[in-house]
Amino acid sequence: MLWRMTAKILDGLKIRDEIFAELKTQIASMTAQGVRPGLAAVLVGENPASQLYVKSKVAACEQLGMASWLHTPAASASTEYMLQLVDDLNRDDNVDGILVQLPLPKRVDSKRVLEAVAPAKDVDGFHPVSMGMLVSNRPGLVACTPAGCMEILRRNGIVLEGANAVVLGRSDIVGKPMALLLLHANATVTVCHSKSQDLPEIIGRADILVAAIGRAGFVQGEWIKAGAAVIDVGTNRVTDGAEAEKLLKNFPARLEKFRAKGNVLIGDVHPDAVNVAGALTPVPGGVGPMTITMLMSNTVKAAKLRRGSKRVAGA
Ligand code: NAP
Repeated sequence: MLWRMTAKILDGLKIRDEIFAELKTQIASMTAQGVRPGLAAVLVGENPASQLYVKSKVAACEQLGMASWLHTPAASASTEYMLQLVDDLNRDDNVDGILVQLPLPKRVDSKRVLEAVAPAKDVDGFHPVSMGMLVSNRPGLVACTPAGCMEILRRNGIVLEGANAVVLGRSDIVGKPMALLLLHANATVTVCHSKSQDLPEIIGRADILVAAIGRAGFVQGEWIKAGAAVIDVGTNRVTDGAEAEKLLKNFPARLEKFRAKGNVLIGDVHPDAVNVAGALTPVPGGVGPMTITMLMSNTVKAAKLRRGSKRVAGA
């Protein structure tokens, strides 16, 4: 039987606004009690994309009433300089979260720098200690993108307990933490990667599919179980005309926009999946806005965990 349905669109912008409103209230109350959460961002060099990301993170702090500091070492900064900077931020009691914007210049040992961040301030959730806390399901700081995917699922009332969940991709920053979060929420989780066999068959059994592989429109609509919830993490900029025409042949308005702009953002799931899935995150406007949202949320959480519930009672 051919299924034709239109998926409920899981709007990340709406959830971002909800969470921002909640955080604003919490931050005001914590600040009134003498604990103003604060994020220190470290941006090395002049990579335009990184500059844009960091700018929007600092702007989000300001919007929420959080403290923020921007450190901008020159592109020539050494590993030792970066380690000293991270150490200073670790020691600064006003700093609750440290964000080292990646990529760092090649000459800097990124791994050493990231591992120097105090786990209590690791708001990106990349530190091995944060990962270990997640594996053992203890309170800690969870990587922002997968944490955001969980917010989308939960706030849309998608049942996780007992559900068959398939995570496509096994990176340390998305796939692996995502699989663990779903497991802790009592889903039955299958993790797939580039060596997995018969993806259409595995994906066809998923009540919940999280796609995070970085391949535009890879997951075909007909692989997806009718009514499944689909979280599309992929953000792939397509510039090739023939590829865009193929992916968007059933979306004339988007195709028009592509023709005018010369590029379009496409997820890892084929746009036609909207006719099969029960619920689906759009690209853009689905998972994308959640990453920065969870960075803000992690900074507030870090302040609460590190500076103690006594000083922020009721927050
Ligand atoms: P990554 O580190 O490149 O990992 C990709 C994963 O996908 C790997 O585990 C790889 O398998 C798997 N994979 C690649 N091709 C595959 C295929 N043909 N079939 C099955 N599995 C395949 O990527 P990432 O950092 O996790 O990011 C994934 C996507 O999410 C990207 O599009 C990225 O831009 C996007 N993203 C979005 C946000 C956001 O805020 N929306 C945040 C982070 C990432 P192997 O392990 O076998 O190599």
